[in-house]
Amino acid sequence: MKMTQSPGSILRDTFGYASFRGLQEQVIEHVLGDQHALVVMPTGTGKSLCYQIPALSRGGSTVVVSPLIALMHDQVSALQQLGVSAAALNSTLTSAEQHQVEQSWLAGDIKLLYVAPERATSSGFLRRLGDTQVNLFAIDEAHCVSQWGHDFRPEYLQLTRLWETHPLVPRLALTATADGQTQREIVQRLQLEPGRTFLGGFDRPNIRYTIQLRQQERGQVQRFLAQQPEDVSGIIYCLSRRKVEEMAQWLSGQGYRALPYHAGLDNATRQKHQRMFQLNEANIMVATIAFGMGVDKPDVRFVMHLDLPKSVEAYYQETGRGGRDGLPAEAYMLYGLNDAVTLYQMMQQSQAAPEIKQVERLKLRSLLGLCETVRCRRQVLLEYFGDRCEPCGNCDTCLEPVASWDATTAAQKALSAVYRTGQRFGVGYLSLLLRGQLEPRMQSNGHANLPTFGVGKELSDKEWHSVFRQLVAHGYLEVNMEGHGGLQFTARSAAMLKGAEQLQLRRDTQAKAASAKALGPARVSTPLFERLREVRLRLSRDQSVPPYVIFHDSTLYEMAEKRPRTAAELRQISGVGESKLARYGDIFLQALGGDPGTPGDGQL
Ligand code: ADP
Ligand code: ZN
Repeated sequence: MKMTQSPGSILRDTFGYASFRGLQEQVIEHVLGDQHALVVMPTGTGKSLCYQIPALSRGGSTVVVSPLIALMHDQVSALQQLGVSAAALNSTLTSAEQHQVEQSWLAGDIKLLYVAPERATSSGFLRRLGDTQVNLFAIDEAHCVSQWGHDFRPEYLQLTRLWETHPLVPRLALTATADGQTQREIVQRLQLEPGRTFLGGFDRPNIRYTIQLRQQERGQVQRFLAQQPEDVSGIIYCLSRRKVEEMAQWLSGQGYRALPYHAGLDNATRQKHQRMFQLNEANIMVATIAFGMGVDKPDVRFVMHLDLPKSVEAYYQETGRGGRDGLPAEAYMLYGLNDAVTLYQMMQQSQAAPEIKQVERLKLRSLLGLCETVRCRRQVLLEYFGDRCEPCGNCDTCLEPVASWDATTAAQKALSAVYRTGQRFGVGYLSLLLRGQLEPRMQSNGHANLPTFGVGKELSDKEWHSVFRQLVAHGYLEVNMEGHGGLQFTARSAAMLKGAEQLQLRRDTQAKAASAKALGPARVSTPLFERLREVRLRLSRDQSVPPYVIFHDSTLYEMAEKRPRTAAELRQISGVGESKLARYGDIFLQALGGDPGTPGDGQL
């Protein structure tokens, strides 16, 4: 097909970016060579450009299949702001609107058409598709084709019908989450052979990871929020609907603009809350994991977990919703032994097959290992995904190394207490026993005479809790399945009890606020930055689009720092392309105190 503009010049002129990131250029080149591909790159690393630039490089239109209707709308607005003709076809349009979109598309006036999967596989759409010139099929959230995944969409299996009439058009599948098995499934089901798989690195260096012991939850939340610049957007994940409601209400009472989001709210309310969050009318979303795949807000500055997620994968996916714009973001999690107990119990009650439960237990154990590690969090995370890095300098353990202590003897005492009491009792009871604190129950259980009674006076109740918690995290104990939080042995317990292993544990400290070390210079808000933000907010309200569709925070920061005075200077800022310069150049130059009329700025 004929090339109309080179990828590099589209990147600069239309998107206003100076250079490609990561694998973008390779993927684009590959697709423009009419080859199929699967792209697996973490959220926020720039997958969209991999199909948007090819779409604009040649004649015809690109069909983008995406299951996320709310997101489609924003993508289309963002492209329109860039002066690109884009449109969406989904169930939220009236039939008159649909007709209009289809007519412009058939007339060749639309470069990027976003389509929901059920629409894409309808016979009407397929018929019209046969009559149009298509330059690329992009299948977003491609893992939805996997029947074994949580996001399976049956319509994805039908997508092959799209290329029946266009067999030579390249197909690009994209996803942020796909292990080896899922990758093979995508390649096979979306017929990407012969083709290539591009795997981006897993690291999200702009995210700072902090994991703390839960002490006084609300106090910790309060201290964390107090450190954030005013009005930044964040997500707070909780396990239960009730906690979501309570937390949202409490935060509102504290003067934050917080909203709840969970599956118990009706559809309209959920959509309204998501929209308000997207438009920055609310800045904190308190949510269960029901607030998930459709979250595409690039300026989420923190993701907080007030309860443990199910696995390291879930944690990484959820925290990955922060900092998509590349600016510093925080992942802050609180946990305690109770979380593990609750999760073990939920697993036990689920109807899943025993093999699945076993996998879930192992996953939970990896997550607990991450919580209790004395190593760099990022190293532990990346190793989990088969990737690696140096100690990162941007996680809590790197910033404030934790003290560890030789807990071998303590572990033996703790395990012995579990064993001699019949592997049925919880931490509270075991700690009292070790410290020799007689309880009526103990006497009737005959435990007051055990050799373990009172052998652990050197540690406080808190310290014993810490030992037990970490023994669970390291797999030396597990929560038994009777549902009362009792602890029992694992395959590893005996070796430790016999003294065949050494154990170093974290020394718990009083929880401080998350590290106060600044997240990097880009975070510093100045009066000028605030002024630019106000201008942006006004523009976004006028057009009913999210502020970041006008300019990203990173663009405003760069403007505030470099203070461009002419259109030509403004055009050098990352994120300012031709279309945005024409639309907003004057307004922002004015806010920056420059003179928009300066001669020599030929662009305007
Ligand atoms: P993904 O789809 O992988 O989650 P996006 O495509 O939404 O990520 O990109 C994340 C952010 O990075 C977007 O705000 C996008 O505009 C920005 N971005 C993408 N590529 C570049 C680039 N080459 N230079 C600067 N910013 C980029
Ligand atoms: Zn680190």
